[in-house]
Amino acid sequence: MKPAPVIFTFHKIREQSEQGNGAAWRALLDFYGAALFRLLEIHAAMSTPEAFLIVQQTMARLSGNKFEKLRATSRQSEREFLGDLRGLLLEAALGSAAFKETSTHGNPFTSEKITKVLDGLPLLHKEMLLFKLGGYTEQTIERIMRLSPRVAEKAFERLSGEYQPVRQLQQDRNPWPAAWLAFVTQVQVLKTEHCTPAHEMVRIHDGQVSWYEKEPVEKHVSECLRCLEAWTGLREVGYWRRAADPLSSSEIERLMGVIPVEKTPAKNRSFFARLRR
Ligand SMILES: [Zn+2]
Repeated sequence: MKPAPVIFTFHKIREQSEQGNGAAWRALLDFYGAALFRLLEIHAAMSTPEAFLIVQQTMARLSGNKFEKLRATSRQSEREFLGDLRGLLLEAALGSAAFKETSTHGNPFTSEKITKVLDGLPLLHKEMLLFKLGGYTEQTIERIMRLSPRVAEKAFERLSGEYQPVRQLQQDRNPWPAAWLAFVTQVQVLKTEHCTPAHEMVRIHDGQVSWYEKEPVEKHVSECLRCLEAWTGLREVGYWRRAADPLSSSEIERLMGVIPVEKTPAKNRSFFARLRR
């Protein structure tokens, strides 16, 4: 008798992957794997084979030691979970051999310099500038924000001198990936007890919060580089979750190789293939 089809949702994936369920891990890679590749392509300026190694490493880390890292990720919402995954991924990219030798001399992405570039701007403009500094073209920023970056045209004028290369980007790709990855990773040390939890950011992005609740949070995010980075990161993962083309089943199978789950018989694999979008 055929087993009843399992329809995976975020909550099911999150719950069952930490129990070592192979089908849940395949669904995790199917739902979220492609977004991870896009993030590496942009923030780390990596090719697909380079990115593959980092995604593989991140999956191994997430599932290692009885799924310890996975257990520490958010179980509340998909975007919060993806925000956690993004952090692990970019950290792994920074630690990769590709960036070991890269000098960050003349670093354009010190906290001081970025704070100065953003200083005094409204939150929306800060967000757009941070996406730009992260390596995004204006076309993609428009799709992520659902708003033309032309509203921040004046703010973009601040990207002169050493930031000129990000203004002229033809594709979504950071011109100084080593320095950028160091920035997004190191900005985490600025976290204090006053920082905004990811779930509050997600609620605001989804318009579920009144102006009175929103105002103090947005004020903090606007003034805290750590929270601004997390804030744009959550928008970014939400966008790529929808927009990235899913991985092929052979890519998923290759990534499954590093995850300690019971090997699924071939007939269940074809069953999984039917569930794919
Ligand atoms: Zn903060």
